[in-house]
Amino acid sequence: MESSRRKFLKIAGLSVLGVGAKPVLDSLVQAGEPTYATDQEALEGTHWAMVVDMKKCRDDCRDCITACHRGHNVPEINNAKHEIKWIWNEDFKHAFPTQEHEHLAERLERQPFMVLCNHCDNPPCVRVCPTQATFKRKEDGVVMMDFHRCIGCRFCMAACPYGSRSFNWFNPRNYLDDTNPDFPTRAKGVVEKCNFCAERLAIGKIPLCVEACKEKALVFGDLDDPNSEVRKILRERFSIRRKPGLGTGPNIFYVI
Ligand code: SF4
Ligand code: SF4
Repeated sequence: MESSRRKFLKIAGLSVLGVGAKPVLDSLVQAGEPTYATDQEALEGTHWAMVVDMKKCRDDCRDCITACHRGHNVPEINNAKHEIKWIWNEDFKHAFPTQEHEHLAERLERQPFMVLCNHCDNPPCVRVCPTQATFKRKEDGVVMMDFHRCIGCRFCMAACPYGSRSFNWFNPRNYLDDTNPDFPTRAKGVVEKCNFCAERLAIGKIPLCVEACKEKALVFGDLDDPNSEVRKILRERFSIRRKPGLGTGPNIFYVI
């Protein structure tokens, strides 16, 4: 990444990362969005998006999920009702219910699709959150979670049409063998989700999932930059998004 492509965006408040937070009603007294300072190492972008090239994605591979969950201290809870997911696999008919039909290519029927928070242009999760624990960054469109402010009401989970949010029914720290000291662990009673690796963008790094994909199936970039790799792919290839008819404006694009 050229230095001219970087701009300053360092997270100034630890509350954005939710360090050691417990969900308390005191969260409600905080007003306004968390504040940011800038950092010259940060990646420059005003509308982050991701392209997932399903022709490159390997059915048996979980490299992106492993890297994301390790890096973000996502607990491994083997119970579908209680699991915490930042990235996970979904079959075509559940990921793209409005585009499924009986003559779908066998490859698509069989292939697991990696899914995550879509960092929607018009996110219903943000609209319903009573504490602004969920907010959309004006500067780059990332939909963030402030764990300190989350009171666990789960309105956002009901509002998200993609199942992109998980609730910590138990203390997630009891389900972590290895902890990444550079990212906070969460507490029982808060919601969490993918943050587009905001903590890495702030120091000039691409998201962990993108870095971990050996097949180069994941491409991250700025939709506002006509010369970005994501724009180039979207110009040249056919792509679909999850439940586009809902008007949420997902920023994850799948090339099939
Ligand atoms: S995918 Fe769900 S959690 Fe993510 S921004 Fe959209 S509505 Fe919110
Ligand atoms: S559970 Fe969701 S809607 Fe409720 S405070 Fe936490 S982030 Fe906001």
